[in-house]
This record gives sequence, structure tokens and C-alpha cells, in this order.
Amino acid sequence: MWAALAGGVGGAKLARGLMALTPVNIADLRIIVNTGDDFTLHGLHISPDIDTVLYTLGGIANPQTGWGIAGDTTKVLDQLTTLGEDPWFWLGDRDLATHLLRTRALSAGDGLAKVTADLARRLGIPAWVRIMPMSDDVVSTEIQTPDGWLPFQEYFVRRRHADPVSDVRFAGLARARPLPAALEAMRSAEVVVFCPSNPIVSIGPILALPGMRDALAHRQAGRRRIAVSPIIQGQALKGPADRMLEGLGYEVSALGVARLYVGLVDDFVLDSADADLAPAVAQLGMRPHVLPTIMTDAAASLALAQAIAQVVQA
Ligand code: GDP
Ligand code: CA
Repeated sequence: MWAALAGGVGGAKLARGLMALTPVNIADLRIIVNTGDDFTLHGLHISPDIDTVLYTLGGIANPQTGWGIAGDTTKVLDQLTTLGEDPWFWLGDRDLATHLLRTRALSAGDGLAKVTADLARRLGIPAWVRIMPMSDDVVSTEIQTPDGWLPFQEYFVRRRHADPVSDVRFAGLARARPLPAALEAMRSAEVVVFCPSNPIVSIGPILALPGMRDALAHRQAGRRRIAVSPIIQGQALKGPADRMLEGLGYEVSALGVARLYVGLVDDFVLDSADADLAPAVAQLGMRPHVLPTIMTDAAASLALAQAIAQVVQA
């Protein structure tokens, strides 16, 4: 069994490559997804990162954005505007079906893990690829800006991640428990892959759940934990990961990301453009691997997943 830790777009791109290695090279893949971005809008429970992973692995994601459903329309949003609303969060008409089903099931008492597994099955994702939330409990990422603490989507979508970030916190963490299957995967997976997701607000909440770091740190000998850098040449390909690292006082580079994962990973994948950072990564006690990591399409995702499989089997 392999486990992957993922946020949204960057995570889903590598997850799709790993899925392409199942069930032949990887018998059983568990993808543990950040839910710190989850929020309620129009009474609907929205799980942006889970949806990005579901749509990408279900083969229906919008290839331009990496999120949302390909070819989706916005009739509902248009009518909300006509009715005088300010629809700041993009909700496609087809996308709404996911939020309706999820909200109905949660209201009926199902946990988010069960709801997610059910959506994955309905989207035709094979049973040996299990997409799961990091927790069934509510954990909400909040961002500190010069205007105070903001809920994550307020910062990320409404204010277009333009504010400087001075701190990040995960509300609800003290009462939250990781999903038992996710914790078990951290302990027993042959390979744990940290996808190239935002280390602060995508991987960060997963690692912050009680017990997750311990489960990762105290794994049996011979098992491999490998991370892929989302930062290439000092920049995020998309989104605020670079500015967040800077705001929180970390070095804005793949090396800065590697430092966040000291003690948690054995291997670290740097993009070919960052080959010069490999010796510094090695000094952190990780094996550096320099590979092309930009996943422009499914073939590139598969190539990176295959390269990772070679690294861990070498
Ligand atoms: P979000 O939840 O949609 O913001 O997505 P993630 O947290 O999963 O991923 C965001 C990060 O993915 C950004 O920091 C990007 O730099 C990184 N990213 C996106 N696409 C790629 C890619 O093809 N290769 C690599 N190495 N990183 C990527
Ligand atoms: Ca996200």
C-alpha cells in the first residue's frame, strides 16, 4: 500500500500519475486530502481540495484551471447575480451536484470519509484508489493578515490571496482526530508520497493532526517517505505558497520546503531547474533526486510517478 498526502491542484496532478500505476505497480493507493479549506456556502458543505482530487482522478477536471469540472457552466451563479448576490466563490452548475450530494449525506449523519468514498465510486474511480479526508472532524484554516485573522476562503478566493500572511492557524485542531484509515496508512504504507502541494496550508493541516507526525516519524525500517517540491526556482507555479513561506519567515525555495519536512521524509524530489540545491538538501539528511516535476498533462504526471517508483525501488 502507498499513501499520498495531497492538497488540491498540485496534489491531484501527482495523484493522477500514481493512480495510473495502480493496480499493477501499486496494489492499493490511499490519498489523504487536506480539508482545512472546507467551508459552508449557501448552506452547502464545500471541500475544495477533495473535489479537485475527485474531479482530476475521475477524469472530469477542467484542464485549464486544474479545478472545477471541464466545460461547466455558471447559470446558477448568473442568476444569483441577477438576484443581487455577489457570488465571490466560483460554483459551476455541474459542480453544484457534488455539493448537493455531499451536504445531503452529511445532514443525514454520514461522515465526510464515507461521503467522499461514495462520490469517488460514483465518479468511476477504482476501489483500489481510496480518496479520504484527513479527518471526519472540522478543522478550519485561518490566515493572519494586516486586517486580522481571515477564514481561508475569504483570504484565498474573495481577496485573491493578495494579503501579506504573517501567521496560519488551524481552528478545531485540538478536538480533531485524524481519520483512523489515514493514520494507519501513515504507519503501514510501504511508501508515503508528499505531493507537491502547498506545505503550509495543504500538507500543514494534515501533519498538524494529533498523531500524524509521530506515525510518520516512527515508521518501520525499509519503508520510504518521499516529498516533491511545489516550489521551483524560488516560486510557486500557482497560488500563494511562495509568499506564505516568505511571510512565515521560511526560505522561499525547494530547500525551504525540504527543511519543513526534516525527520518526516527520506527522499526529496527537486525540479531539474533546482539541481544546484541538491547538496544542501542532502545535508538535511534526505536523499535528493533531481527530476522534471512540472506536470503539464497526464503523461507528465505518469512520468513523475514512474520516476518516484524507480527511486523508492532502487
Ligand atoms: P491547491 O489546494 O489547489 O492550492 O493545491 P495544492 O496545495 O495541492 O498545490 C499548490 C502547489 O502546487 C503550488 O505551490 C504549486 O507550485 C504546486 N504545483 C502545481 N502544479 C505543479 C506541478 O506540475 N509540479 C510541481 N512540482 N508543483 C506544482
Ligand atoms: Ca487547497
